[in-house]
Amino acid sequence: EWLRLVKEHADEAAWRELTRNNPFPAIHGRVCYHPCETACNRIELDGAVSIHSVERYLGDLAIANGWQFAAPVRQTGRRVLVIGAGPSGLSAAYQLALLGHSVEIRDSSDAPGGMMRYGIPEYRLPRDVLDAEVARITALGVTITLNHTVADLLEEQREGNFDAVFVAIGAHLSKRVDIPTRDAGRIVDAVTFLRDVASGETPVIGRRVAVYGGGNTAMDAARVARRLGAEESIIVYRRTAEQMPAHADERDEAVREGVKMNWLRTINSLDDDQMQVEIMELDENGKARGTGRFETLEADTVILALGQEADSDFLKVIPGMQFDGDVVQVDPKTLMTDVPGIFAGGDAVPSERTVTVGVGHGKKAARMIDLWLNSRPHIEREKHDLATFDKLNLWYWGDNRRTTQPELAVEQRQNFDEIVGGLSADEAFTEAWRCLSCGNCIECDGCLGSCPEDAVIKLGKGLRYRYDYAKCTGCGTCYEQCPVHAIEMIAER
Ligand SMILES: Cc1cc2nc3c(=O)[nH]c(=O)nc-3n(C[C@H](O)[C@H](O)[C@H](O)COP(=O)(O)OP(=O)(O)OC[C@H]3O[C@@H](n4cnc5c(N)ncnc54)[C@H](O)[C@@H]3O)c2cc1C
Repeated sequence: EWLRLVKEHADEAAWRELTRNNPFPAIHGRVCYHPCETACNRIELDGAVSIHSVERYLGDLAIANGWQFAAPVRQTGRRVLVIGAGPSGLSAAYQLALLGHSVEIRDSSDAPGGMMRYGIPEYRLPRDVLDAEVARITALGVTITLNHTVADLLEEQREGNFDAVFVAIGAHLSKRVDIPTRDAGRIVDAVTFLRDVASGETPVIGRRVAVYGGGNTAMDAARVARRLGAEESIIVYRRTAEQMPAHADERDEAVREGVKMNWLRTINSLDDDQMQVEIMELDENGKARGTGRFETLEADTVILALGQEADSDFLKVIPGMQFDGDVVQVDPKTLMTDVPGIFAGGDAVPSERTVTVGVGHGKKAARMIDLWLNSRPHIEREKHDLATFDKLNLWYWGDNRRTTQPELAVEQRQNFDEIVGGLSADEAFTEAWRCLSCGNCIECDGCLGSCPEDAVIKLGKGLRYRYDYAKCTGCGTCYEQCPVHAIEMIAER
């Protein structure tokens, strides 16, 4: 729908439609790994619609124009505590505020944003963009109490008269391994390293930095190390390139910036400026195992990027709350924990750990909290079938290749300036026009023209059509010609 509105030059309406679900289009347009584009049918023609770049265009336009969210018409008087001001907590707070609830977020850090501020480096997400999209949520009346670590949830809930709680504490504890070394100070964890850099500090690193791990955090740590002046930044990963959890784009960008990759290696020990690594190989099940053969690589600093865990110990004293290791168990349909009225989402629950999933959890939790506060049951909406490419009857799709975003040349990436630029209004419009509108009527009048029985009645612009089933013979002509598969043939019962 919001892409359709961009096609109509109705940019503000498009932004309002988009932000019904997600308050962070400028952020998502930059950092979301856009799984929607992998699913986009246009991939079969000339490349997926660059949905994220149109989203970013709308987000940036809203910031430039100072567009604000409309406040709810009535307040419910119900109070909700949100623990954590990361994407998940902020998204929940936003949706709860729109529903008229009074929301307070409490967060340990000295600024809101969670890993969007203290993890994702500025060259991918400028902080003025983050600040602008967070400020719009506080303008709705959401209070954020910073530098406040919640240690006793039930006591804070009682003392603050909160009717429900949403726990969105993320996963901030770095997993560690023991690497024998004479100088432990030269082994740091990636979360602390990136947090320090994001807080304006300049951690001391050597000339040759090894980053241990193969995820997105490892890629960012290696790229940040380059920007801090490391002459060499190498990734050491125990499996193969194909098995790396990092997104291919992140890995490719790291390689473009000169980060070297050492697959099938584990770090055994670190000396003054050398590191002993064991060569690994894959067994018949594709699992990496040591070979007992070693080699030496030059490195004077090791950054551990082996994954993160949720700091959830303070929740473990709550009677009835269930855990799966460090993460909180929730009902996947409602995101409620086993304790009535306490919900959880984002990185702190079993899930894919992305900004997008976190924001989605925040939205879902807010709706579930609202139902719970009103003692209403959750009724799952039936999802309609997907309009896959083979179901479309395209007769015209234009010859428009995917618009590319401008970006800094590798030689220009010495500092934390943003690498990728946005689209112009014309480019965003052109890109939105590439959307095939799969499954959504575009009012092309094809069904109207093709019906031999005059059973299709046009209702006017924006109102689509009505089908007169007394005249319809079920010949299927309308269905067979519909370019976007907005018509379904359903057998008469
Ligand atoms: C280096 C790095 C790069 C990443 N890049 C991307 C990317 O490009 N795209 C993407 O989609 N995802 C990315 N991610 C993942 C993404 O950032 C996380 O999945 C997302 O931030 C999780 O959101 P969250 O709200 O659950 O938790 P967080 O963002 O971690 O926020 C949790 C908040 O809770 C607060 N908190 C914790 N405990 C308490 C407590 N007891 N009391 C009060 N406050 C507390 C913390 O201070 C923090 O502000 C990246 C992660 C990292 C580390």
